[in-house]
Amino acid sequence: MTESNSLVRLIYASVKDRYVDGPELKNILNVAQTNNKKSGITGILLFNGGYFLQALEGSRAHVNKLYQSITKDQRHQNFQIIEFIDVATRTWGNWSMKLVSISQQEERIYEKYSGQIGFNPFVLNSDDAVYFLKEISNFDIGLSQ
Ligand code: FAD
Repeated sequence: MTESNSLVRLIYASVKDRYVDGPELKNILNVAQTNNKKSGITGILLFNGGYFLQALEGSRAHVNKLYQSITKDQRHQNFQIIEFIDVATRTWGNWSMKLVSISQQEERIYEKYSGQIGFNPFVLNSDDAVYFLKEISNFDIGLSQ
């Protein structure tokens, strides 16, 4: 099989399964960071207790493979790809996966881009999702690497 070396970014939204709590989220993050370091994936994962919004960046082959694995994970469901695009550079290049929990500050940024109250990543268009995630990243000083 021929694999492209293109750098891509994939952003998707999903709905958490009811059993995902704080410790489970920590497990997800630990596995993500370990695996992503090996496969050269970087990105950001947002969680508000109900929804996930995640950006994955890396080689097209690795991002595709990871996304397929993520959609088999029963800890979340109702996947919707918001953006899948070639990119020239990484936005979250320093983060094997950065976790951000949505608090009041992030909610305010979300409202600016979505025009809505109450975080629901499914209503974001691709541009707004990217700008929202970028602004959140600058804002947040980082929970983990
Ligand atoms: P295995 O752990 O053997 O998984 C086999 C299959 O079972 C996979 O499809 C997996 O998705 C699923 N699975 C694993 N654990 C559970 C569980 N506790 N409950 C239900 N299903 C499970 N992984 C990364 O490597 N990088 C990421 O950036 C990343 N982001 C994630 C974001 C979210 C919101 C979630 C929920 C998971 C994320 N994961 C991520 C975890 C990912 O879904 C896989 O569990 C992980 O990649 C290991 O999969 P595996 O096929 O190598 O091995």
